[in-house]
This record gives sequence, structure tokens and C-alpha cells, in this order.
Amino acid sequence: MALTWSLSLKEVKSINLYSDSRSALQALADPSNTSELVLEVKRIHELAMARRSVFLHWVKAHVGYLGNELADESAKEATKLGNVGWAWKKPRSRISKDLRDVTLEMWQTRWTSSTKGRLTAKFMPDVKLTTRLYCPTITQVLTGHGRFPAYFNRFGLAANALCQCGEIGDVWHYLSSCPTTEFMRRQLRTNDISDFRALISDPHNMYWIQQISRHVNDITPTIPQ
Ligand SMILES: [Zn+2]
Repeated sequence: MALTWSLSLKEVKSINLYSDSRSALQALADPSNTSELVLEVKRIHELAMARRSVFLHWVKAHVGYLGNELADESAKEATKLGNVGWAWKKPRSRISKDLRDVTLEMWQTRWTSSTKGRLTAKFMPDVKLTTRLYCPTITQVLTGHGRFPAYFNRFGLAANALCQCGEIGDVWHYLSSCPTTEFMRRQLRTNDISDFRALISDPHNMYWIQQISRHVNDITPTIPQ
């Protein structure tokens, strides 16, 4: 603080700065000290020395030096404050992590409150920065964007949204109730078929979901071009 204050001085040729903290002075004199605080003080010290001579001295504490006593008083006052008024500079890695966390949080909020991709959100409610790769047949199920009657109908490519069994042919239908997928559905390891997140966390299930998707691809008529 004294060094920073000295930067505001104009007509002063040199400065003598007294501290009773031997360890602080030693830390400043130690070129191998990489503490954030020490580096910051060194930086300000250099700025101050670019303008005038700055000499650092050690003085004995509590022996009546006026300046030292005043500094002591100020230090005691400062202990009553809620914070020390020193903002630690964050290392780059910490800033990266903080930014990543904030970005993820924003992304998660948008993903949770979005009206789009709701089927995918049932499978993957939590956003992640790691890439999740799935084969096209699985992706059709996870997104609902596949060769499903309901999907074709939604885009005006099929007259109705019905599966050949007569029910609405969407992903939920094939995973939960279609008689044509019954054998494959029975292979799924799940206590609650509507818990899509848990469903796809089991690689065994992924295999059978892929089989279901292939089957639906096979039984759904090709759209006339
Ligand atoms: Zn069906």
C-alpha cells in the first residue's frame, strides 16, 4: 500500500520505507519466491523505483517509532473489517475452470428450460462438455429424428403418425409398448422404462435399443421421393 501510495507523489526524489516484518522484506529479496502477493508487491516496487529511489528498511517493532506505531494501529483497525481488501489474482487454470463452470451452468439452464429436444433431454438431462458419440441408429432413438411414423408425419412426409400396430409410432411407443418390438423390449434391463437416463446408462440396453431402432427402420415404409 505504501508503494502504491508513493506512485501518486510528485516532487519526491527518494523514499525510505520502513517495515517491522523481517519475513516480508526477506520474501521480497528472495528471487525464488513466487507467492502471488510477493510478486505483486515486487511489481509495484519496480514501478515505484522507475520514478525514484526506493529503499526498504527493517525496524524493530513496538519500540515507539511513530510511523511504525501508526502502521500497527492501522493494521489493528483493519482486523475489524470484513475482508482484507486484497483480491488474490486467480491463476489462469482457475479462471478457465470458473468460466467453464459458468458456461456449463448457463447451458444447463437453457437445456432444462428449452422447449426443444425434449426427448433427447429425457435421455440426457445433464449437459456435458465431453462429446458423446452414438451410431446413427441409436441417435435416431435419442433424438426422435429417425424413421419413425410420428416423425415422418410431423414433417408432412406421411399421411398419419401410426405404427403398423395402430398406435402412434414414436420412440416411446417402440420402447414401451409396440407388440412388434416386444421380444427386444423384454431384453432391456430396467425397472422403469420411462427412466430414459437410467435406461441408456447400461451398455447392454444400448445394444437392444439399437436392435429396436433397426427393426423400426425395417418395418417403416420408405418415403416415396
Ligand atoms: Zn407399434
